[in-house]
Amino acid sequence: MAIRKIVTGSHPALRSKAAPVKKISEAVLHLLEDMAETMYEYKGVGLAAPQIGITRRLIVVDPGEDRLMKLINPQIIEMEGSQEGPEGCLSVPGIYGEVPRATRVVVEALDPGGKAVRIEAEGFLARILQHEIDHLEGTLFIDRAVRFFDPAEESPGEEPPEEEPV
Ligand code: ZN
Repeated sequence: MAIRKIVTGSHPALRSKAAPVKKISEAVLHLLEDMAETMYEYKGVGLAAPQIGITRRLIVVDPGEDRLMKLINPQIIEMEGSQEGPEGCLSVPGIYGEVPRATRVVVEALDPGGKAVRIEAEGFLARILQHEIDHLEGTLFIDRAVRFFDPAEESPGEEPPEEEPV
């Protein structure tokens, strides 16, 4: 396993539509391992392959408590409700914004064994999944943010924003 370099800013992989994975080869499994290791190294809660410069439809997500999910060709098949919440991104360092997202999503994907999985997610996990799947379309959270903020300048008394970059 290896920690990969995270690409940032105007790297073209961040603005490309990622290609579906046709075969879950050893290389794909290895890549998913590297993505998970890289996500943990940088204390993210999610990582999409374009963030390490690879335009394939692969994401890893861990909302905490060691609930690692490695998802191949993930697709949102249902969205419901609306929530606004803070987001950051390892590929857009130092910037945070309030981003509207669906409250609940249903995602279908393949797991590393090639088995179809269906994830029903709400709240924070739903937000992470939407953020990561956006990466596969070349969309960044800064495209959707309704306002930007400096986490150090939030007014006292407010809940501290979740600052885990994804
Ligand atoms: Zn991101």
